[in-house]
Amino acid sequence: MMRRTDVLVIGAGPAGIAAATAAAKNGCSTIVLDDNVAAGGQIWRGGIDSARTKEDPAKTKAIAALRSSGAEILAGRQVVDQPAPGVLRAVITMADGTRAESFAWDRLILATGARERFLPFPGWTLPGVFGAGGLQALVKGGFYVEGKRVVVAGSGPLLLAVAAHLQEYGAKVVAIAEQAPLRQLLPFAASLLGSSLGKLLQGARYRASLARTPYRMGCWPVAVEGEESVRGVRLTNGRRVWSEPCDLLACGFHLVPNTELAELLGCKLRGDFVEVNVRQQTSVANVFCAGEPTGIAGLEAALIQGEIAGLSAAGAAREASELYGRRSREQAFARRLEAAFRLRPELRSLAVPDTIVCRCEDVPFSQLQEHISWTDAKLQTRCGMGPCQGRICGSAVQTLFNWRATSVRPPLFPVPLEVFDSEEISISPETIVH
Ligand SMILES: Cc1cc2nc3c(=O)[nH]c(=O)nc-3n(C[C@H](O)[C@H](O)[C@H](O)COP(=O)(O)OP(=O)(O)OC[C@H]3O[C@@H](n4cnc5c(N)ncnc54)[C@H](O)[C@@H]3O)c2cc1C
Repeated sequence: MMRRTDVLVIGAGPAGIAAATAAAKNGCSTIVLDDNVAAGGQIWRGGIDSARTKEDPAKTKAIAALRSSGAEILAGRQVVDQPAPGVLRAVITMADGTRAESFAWDRLILATGARERFLPFPGWTLPGVFGAGGLQALVKGGFYVEGKRVVVAGSGPLLLAVAAHLQEYGAKVVAIAEQAPLRQLLPFAASLLGSSLGKLLQGARYRASLARTPYRMGCWPVAVEGEESVRGVRLTNGRRVWSEPCDLLACGFHLVPNTELAELLGCKLRGDFVEVNVRQQTSVANVFCAGEPTGIAGLEAALIQGEIAGLSAAGAAREASELYGRRSREQAFARRLEAAFRLRPELRSLAVPDTIVCRCEDVPFSQLQEHISWTDAKLQTRCGMGPCQGRICGSAVQTLFNWRATSVRPPLFPVPLEVFDSEEISISPETIVH
């Protein structure tokens, strides 16, 4: 089945929602695809407990605008391939099986967001260790944390948001360990006073709600304690190591962009991010990109970039240009954010020889040390060849060894065999089907 649309948007987080709304309001037929069950992306992920889930008014407004714009939202679709230029292939899983759908587009907007960065340290694969945002998402989905002692560790503003959320759901947050030191965070907080007071106040509100929880800066996890599951986590501030008893560890080291689809389409990267011009256009004609794949910058940046991308894709250049000033301010925030939460070098040496780095394929640190590049390590150890396709270990080996992925191949995510058919989805000889 092939659908045709003027504008196709991949990702229904804040950036994709803003992009689709702007494109549809400006007269373009618009389809939005997202692999979650509903629109909202990471920050606006819905919860199953409607009595406890406080809807963000900004989300309600954005979703209402999207619905009234005429854009069509197709959730539960994961884009995995580009079978031909100007066509993307998505898979959808229904009760009666998984099938593929194709979408032909004139203009494409990539708003695929970001994921957490995980770094390996002894015990990080034990049951009870979660990504920080991952645990937050599970709790929204019904995972029970009431009465559980939780340590939240890693880096980035997400830690405070997650800790506040877990506490709201009855968890006892015993400590927040932020690896960035006070000397990096203080200038960042001071800069928000002048430029982003709203963000500063939001952080202060989270902190106030966690008044009895220590927020330790310049502090990071070195090992998880426990045999079958987490009993505690060993933390250090570089001078001493101590044990913090807990039932769960929520740990993530800031975010990494989801650029795989952009790379598959041939879009140029600058550093880790998709390169875009002032119109949010990538190096590939008629392909735009907005939100976290272009830089980790937060909600407001995602919304503004999305709107600019949608207006640009619809040919509304003048309206788009009116938003450039606001976008510049958010980009300045992104640069300060990156500097404030840059990773300390000690995090590169937490793994010991038997620490698992690729958890899909059980590849320990010692096996990787023998190799000279990501490709070499993949070929010899299967690191990054499992179901997550390197989404977890890829950013870890980049931090540990400075290795970078050299190519992206379809399908971008594992696809059940039932949807494979030589005319439908291309499989490269090295693709492993799970
Ligand atoms: C796990 C996590 C939790 C977060 N929680 C918070 C929070 O509590 N508070 C906060 O301020 N910020 C949070 N953030 C940061 C927040 O996501 C950003 O600040 C911003 O809102 C990003 O918007 P976006 O539209 O760029 O991306 P996202 O909101 O990430 O939206 C991208 C969407 O694209 C979808 N997608 C990606 N690839 C494909 C594909 N191939 N096919 C189909 N769909 C695809 C994703 O599933 C997602 O729904 C979180 C980030 C992460 C990673």
